[in-house]
Amino acid sequence: MAGNRTFTMIKPDAFAAGNSGAILKMIEEAGFKIVAMKATQLTPELAGKFYAVHKERPFYNDLCKYMSSGPIIAAILEKDNAVEDFRTLIGATNPANAAEGTIRKIFATSIEANAVHGSDSDENAEIEGNFYFNQAERVR
Ligand code: ADP
Ligand code: MG
Repeated sequence: MAGNRTFTMIKPDAFAAGNSGAILKMIEEAGFKIVAMKATQLTPELAGKFYAVHKERPFYNDLCKYMSSGPIIAAILEKDNAVEDFRTLIGATNPANAAEGTIRKIFATSIEANAVHGSDSDENAEIEGNFYFNQAERVR
């Protein structure tokens, strides 16, 4: 059975452009409940840890630099079938390929600066949520 939680980040491009509120509105209107949320900024080292699965990819160093370049919002979200439904809501990694009406289609500026993160599996949603939030920082 699909899990009911996912993890997201509003990335530095979207945060800096003042789009956090509009993106959170879309997320809530799509039926996701906020379980944990904070504004924070990654160091390059922490960004490297978060994206360690991509360390052999050619874009890894730039990605770590970009993800630590400014404030972000990190959040755990709850909804039935959360991981898959959230990936549908955000759209394809490359905004050029993202469906009309998706968050990345509306707010992303490039394949790198693509406005939001969404976990790709229940297992990674759990790992990524735990990366940012302890139990006292979550809604019970
Ligand atoms: P997603 O975020 O859709 O799950 P990936 O996990 O493949 O995508 O990649 C992680 C992040 O790395 C992307 O969201 C994007 O910010 C960046 N990225 C992915 N592919 C590229 C690329 N070809 N060039 C530059 N940055 C990329
Ligand atoms: Mg991914």
